[in-house]
Amino acid sequence: MSAEAQLRAMVEQPWRCSNCEQLHHGLFDLACFAPDYWKEEEVYEPNASLRLDGDFLSEDFCVLGGEYFFVRCVALIPVVGMKETFGFGVWSSLSRTNFEKYIEKFDTGFDVDQGPWFGWLSNRLKNYPDTLALPCDVYPQPKRKRPHLVVTGYEHPLALDIRDGMAPEKLLEIYEANGHCPERPAEKPSSHGWRGLFGLRK
Ligand SMILES: [Zn+2]
Repeated sequence: MSAEAQLRAMVEQPWRCSNCEQLHHGLFDLACFAPDYWKEEEVYEPNASLRLDGDFLSEDFCVLGGEYFFVRCVALIPVVGMKETFGFGVWSSLSRTNFEKYIEKFDTGFDVDQGPWFGWLSNRLKNYPDTLALPCDVYPQPKRKRPHLVVTGYEHPLALDIRDGMAPEKLLEIYEANGHCPERPAEKPSSHGWRGLFGLRK
């Protein structure tokens, strides 16, 4: 089966991952837990507990030493031949000024014409040449969606994938490198329960 046919089969019905043993639905998103600079325990505090004066990590915000500020974004990567888009949850730094703007509007959402804000990509992604500290643009989104991240500056493979889409083979390799095993034949969907458990994109 070609990689594209394999991805289509994954979209058509949920599949049991023989590696993490969860039931995945379609082209589910992957996410980095924290910026790579975060060296504390990997535990989230609630967003509402945000502190700007020390170390802080929640699912959307990160502060290091009261000096460096990061937000969780999503890099949307089209997949050649598929109408579904893959989302990579990654972190970007922001200036304190833009970080504070983001927090202020976090609960209400942004107008579409906000941004983009400059940031540095703050994760190393497997299957790419080093992605840490790539320059990027962060686009705040309306309706409380996570900001979209676009890599800018030069012709890094990640920048090209975000702009032009990636080959189906590459997405399968990325899933495998991140601990998911798409080869296993899909199971029949249960009548309820699975939809919405995976592949959620905020
Ligand atoms: Zn898995």
